[in-house]
Amino acid sequence: MTYDSNNLFAKILRGEIPNKTVAESEHALAFHDINPSAPVHVLVIPKGPYVCFDHFAAEASDAEIADFHRLAAQVCKLTGVAPDEGDGYRAITNAGENGVQEVPHYHLHILGGRNMGRMIARG
Ligand code: AMP
Repeated sequence: MTYDSNNLFAKILRGEIPNKTVAESEHALAFHDINPSAPVHVLVIPKGPYVCFDHFAAEASDAEIADFHRLAAQVCKLTGVAPDEGDGYRAITNAGENGVQEVPHYHLHILGGRNMGRMIARG
């Protein structure tokens, strides 16, 4: 899969565009979404050049995959949405045209702080 290194999140990773960092690890970065859809809306991205979820899941190393998910778990704790201490969240990722993915660098949205409603709108 061809990765466009001029995408917005690649620029954030290179420090060319600022971000509001929530947490960072060796292989991943978590930051606040600039246009939040919920009181908590954090994006978790791998530092490596992966376009979308299936690309990351197929091509990333075990270390990258583990590290990414550990950071996502840390974000749930840090933002207070983890169900053991908070009220829960939704984790979603968009891919490609039908998934309506805007930024072609894999990212997981962690949304919470309010009831997120049904998973997807019908139609
Ligand atoms: P997606 O539609 O799944 O590709 O999500 C892209 C997300 O990136 C949207 O929720 C945007 O609000 C968010 N976004 C766009 N630009 C920035 C930025 N500079 N910093 C943080 N989030 C951004």
